[in-house]
Amino acid sequence: MKISQASGNVSTVSDSSTQKQEIEDLKDSQIIYLKSTDCAIKSQVCLSGLTSYRVGGTAEWYVAPRNLEALQSSIEYAKEQGWNVTILGAGSNLLVSDRGLPGLVISTRHLRHSYFDSQTGQLTVAAGESIPNLAWEAAKSGWQGLEWAVGIPGTVGGAVVMNAGAHHSCIADILVNAQVLLPDGTLETLTPDQIGYGYRTSSLQGHESFTDKPGQCIVTQATFQLQPDTDPARVLQVTKEHKKHRLNTQPYNFPSCGSVFRNPKPYAAGWLIEQTGLKGHQIGGAQVALLHANFIVNRGGAKANDIFCLIRHIQEQVQQHWSICLEPEVKMIGEFQMAG
Ligand SMILES: Cc1cc2nc3c(=O)[nH]c(=O)nc-3n(C[C@H](O)[C@H](O)[C@H](O)COP(=O)(O)OP(=O)(O)OC[C@H]3O[C@@H](n4cnc5c(N)ncnc54)[C@H](O)[C@@H]3O)c2cc1C
Repeated sequence: MKISQASGNVSTVSDSSTQKQEIEDLKDSQIIYLKSTDCAIKSQVCLSGLTSYRVGGTAEWYVAPRNLEALQSSIEYAKEQGWNVTILGAGSNLLVSDRGLPGLVISTRHLRHSYFDSQTGQLTVAAGESIPNLAWEAAKSGWQGLEWAVGIPGTVGGAVVMNAGAHHSCIADILVNAQVLLPDGTLETLTPDQIGYGYRTSSLQGHESFTDKPGQCIVTQATFQLQPDTDPARVLQVTKEHKKHRLNTQPYNFPSCGSVFRNPKPYAAGWLIEQTGLKGHQIGGAQVALLHANFIVNRGGAKANDIFCLIRHIQEQVQQHWSICLEPEVKMIGEFQMAG
């Protein structure tokens, strides 16, 4: 990844317009081409390869727009068809049902651009940029502020929505503003106060809304405040130390979504799960990680429903032992069922 430092406007904003479409029938799937964009909506796309758990069924429809115009066209088209819309970043905090997802899944993976303003120390990046790549680029350039994020395998959009954090820092600490596409197709630039951040939460997750317009809000880009006038060697060293610490304390060798539950302060969810005797507990291919009990890992061949049942089992057991309700941090989407 190369972060542009040239001056100028890098935003990919353009007007929304309803595009005519062409439909091509393939053997088992369909492709819909949205005219005037280089964007194709495909049917029956497997989502397991697009999530870090490596599980889940197919998206009824899937698209990965390359710019804001194509994103807007995709949403317009979904609206016309009456489709449900699901936004997918790197899929590193998602448990997608084995039965798949109805409607349109929009991946932000191709929404890419970045621009660093050395005068202000502000880094503006598109929603689909990778957080760990940004952290390494910032570290190599000696820009302080993203060292903590090096082990979080998500996108900028996912991190802004989740208020991703580690090592006592989080997105809310460095976010200057986020550009958001509202359900009515308009763009708005929101400050952290408007986004309403809390511990791993934000109003962008849809529980409470900063807008009275119903529907999904999509983060299209974010601006972070970094500190360029610091000791570059120190920034790189801290970034490397954080990465090393995580590799030593978290199970990066199996597919997972990171921490499954929010920490119910003052407790750590992992400690509660371990004290309940659940470390290593397995349902199908899903296991409570031996290295870190707040991780559920896919030991091979896990179904999304195995992971779901293990999440529910942990919640029941911790509730029984501690009278504490563990709240999932992972977003579970689609239909699941408890084992009978
Ligand atoms: C090994 C591992 C370690 C992890 N460690 C940490 C950690 O230390 N700290 C931490 O906070 N998290 C951690 N995570 C979880 C995860 O990486 C973060 O929550 C990350 O921010 C999710 O980003 P994503 O792009 O993968 O989002 P996704 O998982 O794709 O999506 C998460 C949610 O955000 C929504 N979303 C995604 N992009 C957008 C967008 N552009 N606009 C609107 N909505 C959007 C989705 O619809 C979904 O509801 C870890 C995960 C793994 C696998």
